[in-house]
Amino acid sequence: MSKKRFFRNIVPLWVFLLGIVLSTSLVWQATRWVYNDALDNLIKVGGERLTLYSGTLREALSRYAYLPYVLSQNIDVQILLKTSFNLDLVNRYLESLNTEAGSDALYVVNSIGETLASSNWQEPLSFVGHNYGFRPYFTDAKAGLKGRFFAIGVTTGRPGYFMSHPVLKDERFLGATVVKVDLSPLQEDWHKGGETVLVSDANGVLFLSSRNDWKYRTLTQLSEGQRNMILAGRQYGNLSLDLLSLETIETLADGQRIVRFEGDLYLMLSRSLPGLDWQLHHVVPLAPVREQGQAVAAIGIVLSLLILALGLYVRERRQKQISRRKAREAVAIQEMNLRLQEEVAERSRTETILRETQAELVQTGKLAALGHMAAGIVHELNQPISAIRTQAASGRLLLDRQETGKVHETLTAVTRMTEHMASITAQLKIFAHKTPKLKGQVVLQDCLDGALAMTAPLFSEFGISLSKEVPEKPLILGGDRARVKQVLVNLIRNAIDAMHDSHQRDLLIAVSVQNQEIEISISDTGTGIADQDMEELFTPFFTTKEVGEGMGLGLSISYRIVTDLGGTIRAQNLPEGGAQFTVRLPLVSCHA
Ligand code: ADP
Repeated sequence: MSKKRFFRNIVPLWVFLLGIVLSTSLVWQATRWVYNDALDNLIKVGGERLTLYSGTLREALSRYAYLPYVLSQNIDVQILLKTSFNLDLVNRYLESLNTEAGSDALYVVNSIGETLASSNWQEPLSFVGHNYGFRPYFTDAKAGLKGRFFAIGVTTGRPGYFMSHPVLKDERFLGATVVKVDLSPLQEDWHKGGETVLVSDANGVLFLSSRNDWKYRTLTQLSEGQRNMILAGRQYGNLSLDLLSLETIETLADGQRIVRFEGDLYLMLSRSLPGLDWQLHHVVPLAPVREQGQAVAAIGIVLSLLILALGLYVRERRQKQISRRKAREAVAIQEMNLRLQEEVAERSRTETILRETQAELVQTGKLAALGHMAAGIVHELNQPISAIRTQAASGRLLLDRQETGKVHETLTAVTRMTEHMASITAQLKIFAHKTPKLKGQVVLQDCLDGALAMTAPLFSEFGISLSKEVPEKPLILGGDRARVKQVLVNLIRNAIDAMHDSHQRDLLIAVSVQNQEIEISISDTGTGIADQDMEELFTPFFTTKEVGEGMGLGLSISYRIVTDLGGTIRAQNLPEGGAQFTVRLPLVSCHA
């Protein structure tokens, strides 16, 4: 797959998958963020509410806290406790003070806890005569302390907060003054506010609650000891004090936790009330927070789905575009293939025509060469034939005249002619017969001298100056003298022929020995060889000479002889003009 295709086909899929992962994590993060933010907000607001409730509770309690002390200092109350006088006076005083202060009840108990006087002395459920010696607020007062106690009234059955103060005379405990505060209005206010506010005591009993169903339930399972202590103080009458099943789901920070009650989640904020062993709780439903988170999640999911759908649409569109383009490309490639096929067919047709033309040309060339050769042979042979004919006619005449001596001369001439003809045909035989086996060895210098002797008349005829650079020591090569000489004669004759029209007619024959080879180079100052003729020089019957002047056999015969002797022959033009033929033949030995 090419890099381009890889990016087109694979990368979008990865981007697509990455998009799903990213959008999922984004939605999750956003949901979490919104949830956490809303929760933080809830905690903040809840904390503020808690401060407010704690203030109102403390205010409600402290409003009456001074009353037991004030009563304990009252001289009439002290006289009553010492002498049992002033009962009526104290009762009335308590009644009027209670009405004025707005407390639930004010009463005076003696040193054994028996109520001597009470603000409700005239009511059917009067405290007077009842003994509250079992109540912790009495025992605390007896110990010289301020008593603080929440309990359900044993006489009235109404819950209230009891605060006591010891009445001492010369450090002798005479009794205690007690105020009972009704906290139900506070509860009513919380209830009306629609908020869940709870107060638990040291044992975890919810004695104040804006929710009625949670009232007098416990936050933790009470131990046997705790139950016995509660019973001894008759704090909550005969109530069963069942456990409120609030399951803690998560503890957030100090006094903050998420709880589950009957399947619903709540944020529960708790705070200790300073100076009291109570805990104030504010319970807020978590549903709105969760709903906010869910709303964000829903929006996120919808948005992601929209983006996904858009992505899929874009991808689909692009895929379609790609397939359309591919189809177009396929058609183009098909058309190109067809064109190529046509071109190939056209080329093979042209090739066939060319082959045929070439074959024709070869044939024509062969015929031309044959014609050329035939003309050459005819011309070469015609001369001696007509000479023989002439000699024969004159022979007949000489015989008629009885001049036998001259007939003899005539026949000798005929013989010479036939020898000449035989030499022509002998040259042609070299192409007809197989290579003759090497016979003996020959000294190059002898062959060269022979060849120069044969061509000597031509040198003087055409005014050719000859230069020779030939080593003195005889160079021996394998072969027969006649054929080596023939090669040299051919090359010398050709060089002389080439210099016919030259002003400077110099022929240089240089012989040297290199790498066990004899190198013979024959250089002239002639016309040189045309470039187009170079390749055909050694082809039989190739000649640039006029009919009758050359048959085109010299170089081809020389080539045949040299290769038969295991050597090479090549031609080149000289830079200063003229041609140079170089023959290399294997050196057998050289004698000093
Ligand atoms: P011929 O001499 O009968 O033409 P060759 O085979 O000897 O046949 O030579 C073939 C041709 O090579 C010649 O016709 C000539 O054109 C060319 N040639 C040979 N030798 C030389 C040379 N020394 N300088 C220029 N051309 C040459």
